[in-house]
Amino acid sequence: AKSAGGNRFELADPEADARAITRHGLTTSLPAALERGEFFIEYQPLVHLGDSSVRGAEALVRWLHPQHGVLGPDRFIPLAEHTGLIVPLGRWVLEQSVRQAREWRERNGDTSPLRINVNLSPCQLNHPGLVQDTVDILERAGVEPEALCLEVTESALIGADDDLLKPLRRLAEMGIDIALDDFGTGYSNLANLRRLPVSVLKLDRSFTQSMQQFPADPVDLKIVEGIVSLAHSLDLAVTVEGVETGAQAEQLRILGCDTAQGWYYARPGPPDRLHELALVDATG
Ligand code: C2E
Ligand code: CA
Ligand code: CA
Ligand code: CA
Repeated sequence: AKSAGGNRFELADPEADARAITRHGLTTSLPAALERGEFFIEYQPLVHLGDSSVRGAEALVRWLHPQHGVLGPDRFIPLAEHTGLIVPLGRWVLEQSVRQAREWRERNGDTSPLRINVNLSPCQLNHPGLVQDTVDILERAGVEPEALCLEVTESALIGADDDLLKPLRRLAEMGIDIALDDFGTGYSNLANLRRLPVSVLKLDRSFTQSMQQFPADPVDLKIVEGIVSLAHSLDLAVTVEGVETGAQAEQLRILGCDTAQGWYYARPGPPDRLHELALVDATG
């Protein structure tokens, strides 16, 4: 709380005050947290809708905070973006994830070469070291660029000028997949898609949610159907996120979506868990 003579409005809302203090505390402890190794990554399987096989995973970062316990990315990624710590943190996530992919691939042999999806913040796109860092990380781990997919949100690319797209183009030319994350939540012109170096559309969870009932809302069905057919005509694969029920999975499969992710298959979990899921799957 503020000292005497402080803003009365803030004093009247102690919860907001507490939130602000926590936010401040979290922000200032972010750099030390990275040094102390308090971040860890959970992996959530990406499943082929046609045959239900595990094809890879998305890396999702968490913070094991010494006082607050496990914090989800929504609590600290915005703070890290604000302070610029997202650049070293994002680089760390990429390096860990790529190394993890390497380990899965070694353990699984060629039966199911798992791929890895990593989220990229708009701040990382603006950082001049992105392309070289990514090349170095892949080389150090001995992982081919085709095994990596970088997810960028639709909103980050809306109205993006060429300077922002240039590093993405270079990454795409190397063979890295670029996915447009949370697709359908922004207001991007669909024709704009042709301009972007993306090869995957990740349909936002809100579409999946509307498939909860079976049969789903006919207008939503038409929209998803339209997006899928447009995506496929542009040679883009469609991934759906937030699949929580078998009915949703079935509906989205019928609509022609390629890959799915969600609690119905698995929650995000430790790397060994993913290895087991993929292995069970490969051996039937
Ligand atoms: P996102 O990229 O859209 O990731 C999907 C989020 O949906 C994850 O939340 C995941 O745990 C959650 N989810 C997965 N399946 C289901 C489901 O069936 N139902 C529901 N209700 N939720 C599901 P999470 O892990 O809290 O991550 C939140 C966001 O934080 C991510 O959204 C992503 O934008 C960001 N994020 C996570 N890791 C990183 C990172 O390493 N770097 C950056 N820049 N952002 C990250
Ligand atoms: Ca994502
Ligand atoms: Ca998403
Ligand atoms: Ca999201």
